[in-house]
Amino acid sequence: MELEKITFEGVEQKRPMIIAGPCSAETEEQIMETARGLAAAGVKIFRAGVWKPRTKPGGFEGGGEACLEWLKRVKQELGMLTAVEVATEKHVKAALTAEVDILWIGARTAANPFAVQEIADALKGHDVTVLVKNPVNPDLELWIGALERINNAGIKRLGAIHRGFSEYEKSLYRNPPQWHIPIELRRRLPELPIFCDPSHMGGRRELIAPLSQEAMDLGFDGLMIEAHNCPDCAWSDKNQQVTPEALAVILDHLVIRETTQTTESLAELRREIDKLDNQLLALLSKRMRISHEIGQYKKEHNMPVLQAQRYDEILSLRGAQATELDLNPEFIITVLRAIHEESVHVQMKLINK
Ligand code: PEP
Ligand code: MN
Repeated sequence: MELEKITFEGVEQKRPMIIAGPCSAETEEQIMETARGLAAAGVKIFRAGVWKPRTKPGGFEGGGEACLEWLKRVKQELGMLTAVEVATEKHVKAALTAEVDILWIGARTAANPFAVQEIADALKGHDVTVLVKNPVNPDLELWIGALERINNAGIKRLGAIHRGFSEYEKSLYRNPPQWHIPIELRRRLPELPIFCDPSHMGGRRELIAPLSQEAMDLGFDGLMIEAHNCPDCAWSDKNQQVTPEALAVILDHLVIRETTQTTESLAELRREIDKLDNQLLALLSKRMRISHEIGQYKKEHNMPVLQAQRYDEILSLRGAQATELDLNPEFIITVLRAIHEESVHVQMKLINK
C-alpha cells in the first residue's frame, strides 16, 4: 500500500492525534457551542455526523448537506479541521465541496464492498484524508479490502479507526474491542495509522478513559471521541458522549508511553519469555503424544473418546490450582478447554482411521 503520513498544518505531530465532536450535527448552536468548548480544550480536529446510519428507521438520521455549512463556520471561526462520515458518492461530493478535511467511512458502510467502491470511485483525483472504520463484523480481510479500495483510488493519507465489533450476546461493551484484530492489522500494514473510537466501543462514557488508555498502551496513533455540549440531550448516542471539559480531563490523565524504546533489560525479559514459550510448546507436544496413546487404548477397548467426568475433574482441579498459583482461573480454563478440544480432535481422527 502506498501511504503518506497524516499531517495537518497547525496540528502538532504527537501521539495521540485527537478527533472529537458530537455523534450528530443537530443544530448550528450545538455545533458551535461544542466546537468552542473543544477548541478551548486544545482539540484541533472536529468530527460530526451529518448523515447518520441508524439500525432502525424513525431515529434521527442527520440533518444532511445543510449541516455542512455549520462545519464551514467551525473551520473559519475556530480554525479547526473538520471530519465527516460519508457513505455514498453524493456524500463524498457534498463533503468535498464544503471543504471537509477528513472523510471517514462508517462501520456499516465498511462492511459493504459495493458502497466502499462507490466512495472510492468518487474520491478519484481528490486530495483528502480518509479514515476507514472496521466493519461491524470481526473480519480483518474485509477491513483491509476497504482500505485497499480507497488506497487504489489514489488516497495516500489513509488511516483506520478501530471501533470494536458487534456481538449477539450483550457484554460490558457496546462493541467488544477484540484487540487482537487491530494488532494483526498493525502487523500486516505497519505504516497505517490506527485510531481508536472508545465511544462506540464502550457505548458508555465511563469506558472512554480506560479504553483510550488501552489503545495508547497498544501503540495506537490517535483517538476519535464523541463529545457534545450537553451529552444528555444528544439526539443520538447520548450515553457515550462527554462534555468538552470532561474530555479535557480524560486526555490530561492519559499516560503516553514511548513506543520505540527497547531497553536492554526488556530484551533480557523477552529472551526469558521466548525460553518459556519453547518449554510450553515442548510440553504441549508431549501431552498430545500421550493423548494419542490414550486414544489408541480407547480404540482397542472400544471406549468412547469423550469421557465427560474426567474432563470435569480436570477443569475443576486445575481451576482451583490456578488460584493458588496466582493465575486467573478463567484464563486457565480457557487454555485447558482449547487443549482438551484438540486432544478430542486428535483421538477422533485416530479412532475413525
Ligand atoms: C459514528 O461515528 O457516529 C458512527 C455511526 O460510528 P460507527 O460507524 O462506528 O457505528
Ligand atoms: Mn455515534
